[in-house]
Amino acid sequence: MADRLTLEIATPMRLVVAETVDEIVIPGSQGYFGVLPGHAPFLTTLGIGELTYRIGRDEYYLAVSGGFAEVRDDKVIVLADCAERPDEIDRARAERARERAERRLSGRSDEEVDYSRATAALARALTRLQTAGRSH
Ligand code: ATP
Repeated sequence: MADRLTLEIATPMRLVVAETVDEIVIPGSQGYFGVLPGHAPFLTTLGIGELTYRIGRDEYYLAVSGGFAEVRDDKVIVLADCAERPDEIDRARAERARERAERRLSGRSDEEVDYSRATAALARALTRLQTAGRSH
């Protein structure tokens, strides 16, 4: 068993992270789960939320949504639909997305509303706003 983990995070557009890390917390579709070296093999779909990884004492954050995560042999591969680092997030855009989703969910919108789509959009916007506030 290695004492560290290899982490790769990719989207259809790019490789976002390729690092050796100590610990990872992943937003799975059934909830957050932590991965340390020696973790049992595992495959899951991703939800919407903040992925965190730790290198020594430093923590790093990404807003992710949708896709898959696989844990095998101390290697973690995340294939995400979207993944953004804090400095890549456009806060004003995320605020607009949050307001749009909240208006749709409030029932005050004139248009036909797809509630599950609006709920997911709200979760993406709130996650981006949270991650944008991180220092890394
Ligand atoms: P919007 O309504 O603002 O497009 P969205 O949640 O519908 O938000 P997504 O479909 O999740 O957007 O993402 C589409 C693409 O835009 C992805 O590449 C994603 O990384 C990028 N993206 C979305 N919102 C932001 C943001 N606030 N800052 C930076 N990149 C973003």
